[in-house]
Formats: sequence, C-alpha cells, structure tokens
Amino acid sequence: MPLIIAIDGPSGSGKSSTSRGVAERLGLRYVDTGAMYRAMTWWMLDHEVDVDDPEAVADECSRPQIRLEIDPREPRIVVDGRDVSHAIRQDDVASSVSKVAAVPEVRARLVREQRQIVSRCLADDIGVVMEGRDIGTVVLPDADLKIYLTADAEARAERRAREQQDGDPTYDVASAAANLADRDRRDSTRTVSPLQAASDAWHVDGTHLSLDEVIDAVIGYLPPGQR
Ligand code: C5P
Repeated sequence: MPLIIAIDGPSGSGKSSTSRGVAERLGLRYVDTGAMYRAMTWWMLDHEVDVDDPEAVADECSRPQIRLEIDPREPRIVVDGRDVSHAIRQDDVASSVSKVAAVPEVRARLVREQRQIVSRCLADDIGVVMEGRDIGTVVLPDADLKIYLTADAEARAERRAREQQDGDPTYDVASAAANLADRDRRDSTRTVSPLQAASDAWHVDGTHLSLDEVIDAVIGYLPPGQR
C-alpha cells in the first residue's frame, strides 16, 4: 500500500518545507491543506464577504472552485481558474484565515476534498504527505506515520518574517510574532478540530535542526523497508 504521512503543527514550525522535502525524497504527492484554507479566505476577501461573520462565510463557502496541484516540486493553488499561490501568502489573508478556518461549514467542505485527493492518489498507487493542523486527528486518523512538528516561538517568527520579506521588505519579526501568536491562539482554541497533536504522533522539535535534519528525523520514524 502507498504511504500516507500526516504532518501537523503550529504556524511557522517549518511544516511546508519539511513536508515537501519528505514527499520529494520518497516520491510522494504533497498536499498543503493550509493553502486550501488560505484560498477560501482569499476568495472571501476578494468577494467582500465579511470574514468576521461566520454565517456569511458559511453561506458562501461552497462557491469557490479550489484546485490544488500536488507535485511537491511545484505546488500551486488555483481558485476559479486563477493562480493565487502568491496572493494567499499576503498579510491580509494571513490575518483573516484563522477566522474562516473556524467556520464548521468551511472545514466540512475542505476536509471532504482533502480525503478525496488522498483517495485519488491511492487509486493511482501513489502515497501522500499531507500537512495541516488536524490531519492526524481528524482528516487522516489512519495515516501510516503522524508527525507533530514544533519549534520555539522565536524561531517560528524569524522564519515567517524571512518568508514575508520577499514580498514586503518592511515586514519585521515583531509583526510575524504577533500574527503567529494570534493564529496559534485561534487555531488551538476553536471548537471544531483545534490544533492538537494526535495521541499516536511523533513529536519533532525543529528549533535547533536544519531542514535536512528535520526531514531525516521524519523519515527515520518509518520502518526501514519504507524509507
Ligand atoms: O499552514 P498555514 O499557516 O498556511 O495555515 C493557514 C491557516 O489555515 C492556519 O492558521 C489555520 O487557521 C488554518 N488551517 C486549519 N487546518 C488545517 C490547515 C490550516 O485550520 N488543516
């Protein structure tokens, strides 16, 4: 059977780079579920839906067509035919996404689509690395390997600030730290599928590790025949 790997953890812990790296090394597909919540949020903002009104978000959330490209070498996300891979990383989306992701109707839709992506991969005999907040607990509770990736708050803020500075050179570590703290609070206290480590997840702390070392650590949890 193809491998299914779930990688969860808070914002900025290095989940995306790690998940892509693991998928590339093992020849698996890569599913960034955060990109799907961000795409939904981008669409809500673009259509001037009030993201502070959960009922308005719930009413509209079946409308956007969201397509994820799952090649780990070139992941992309397309909404209603438009490539929003860059737009979903902007500050306006980052500061609203946790509100949209807390709406149960949004989660029901996206979780269903995440499972469909995995079913299609398995039908093609290809495994998947899926990253997010609730993958090991809710989306894929039967995953072959579950990882909970963390890093200390300062390391996460520095990483996120470096990423954002590509688009906005004035973005500083303090802004990143404030955004991460706000999202962590919302993501771990929401009623539906809060950020949580699965009881059978391996915990990896990437604070003092390079990307390659984190990837090695994750792959090291697989039985030797599957590495
Ligand atoms: O991983 P990323 O930082 O891109 O995720 C953006 C946001 O999407 C998170 O802060 C969280 O609110 C939401 N999310 C979620 N469940 C997932 C993945 C992301 O609620 N599985």
